[in-house]
Amino acid sequence: MIKILANDGIDPLGKELLEKAGFIVDTDNIPQAELSGRLNEYDAITVRSATKVRKELIDACPNIKLIGRGGVGMDNIDVEYARDKGLAVVNTPASSSISVAELVFAHLLTGIRFLYDANRIMPAQGSTRFNDLKKKYAKGTELRGKKLGIIGFGRIGREVARIGLGFGMDIGVYDLFPFEPSVHLHFAGNAPIKVAVNSRTFDQLLAESDFISLHVPGQKDGRPVIGKAELALIKKGAGIVNAARGGLIDEHALLEALDSGKLAFAGLDVFENEPVPLEALLTHARISLTPHIGAATDEAQERIGKELADLIIAHFNK
Ligand code: NAD
Repeated sequence: MIKILANDGIDPLGKELLEKAGFIVDTDNIPQAELSGRLNEYDAITVRSATKVRKELIDACPNIKLIGRGGVGMDNIDVEYARDKGLAVVNTPASSSISVAELVFAHLLTGIRFLYDANRIMPAQGSTRFNDLKKKYAKGTELRGKKLGIIGFGRIGREVARIGLGFGMDIGVYDLFPFEPSVHLHFAGNAPIKVAVNSRTFDQLLAESDFISLHVPGQKDGRPVIGKAELALIKKGAGIVNAARGGLIDEHALLEALDSGKLAFAGLDVFENEPVPLEALLTHARISLTPHIGAATDEAQERIGKELADLIIAHFNK
């Protein structure tokens, strides 16, 4: 019988599908340090972002035939090395796009109505300084009619564009590669409608956007896409969201831009130094914070579990 270790867990639907197909699925987490001694009992391992599958682990466990990543980025797996050794490496790139895109708007709405601050201050001062706080948060703004700049027009960037269009935003898009500047919108059972978005150069997008959201992978050279020079080009008072990868925005330059008033707010789901983000980010008054939960919805986890199960079953049954 094929044994799968779902070391970072798997949605119950994925587990059920695998078990129905005759696989044994173990969802007990084996600590990273013990994996090299125990993983060889299994035929496949599935991970999310926590467990690392590096060369040494692959070498120590020749029985492993497949590595599955529930989610998109595979930076925690030595993919090329594994494939060179004949292992299958699979992921579920599309399953979480909507969840990440919705989180971007949670950060944007938080930013334009100061919820990042109100949620921290109201518990302590809501009953003693209600009217002062009402005044403090009185100068909110709206998303409708504002320019949303999307950097990276792949799966998530496109979902962000769709939601932005729903909010009545003017969408500008930049990608490294040529792309079709439109998306299809699906409204409650009606036939899809094709809507154009504006293709922009990187500099145009930085200069004109009221809000910027990053949807590119971690860069091969490890350099931030938004550093000091790029922040200098951004429109004064803009808001920026990073729900893609830590390190895509230079965190020190971001703090400077917030402190100087260049940026009105930032929304961060990802951090350069996870799981111990920079303290100055965590305590900054104008940053909306989430702990890398972009894909963490029930719906996305169910889609991920199902897609992963289908891929594993297809691999071992071929
Ligand atoms: P994708 O591959 O579908 O799209 C990425 C796009 O970025 C591509 O069109 C690519 O051409 C473009 N790109 C790459 N480098 C670029 C650059 N320097 N400038 C402009 N464009 C560039 O990927 P996706 O599924 O949309 O995922 C996007 C990001 O979201 C990834 O970093 C992924 O790891 C991250 N993500 C985060 C979470 C979370 O929990 N917060 C969950 C899922 C995915």
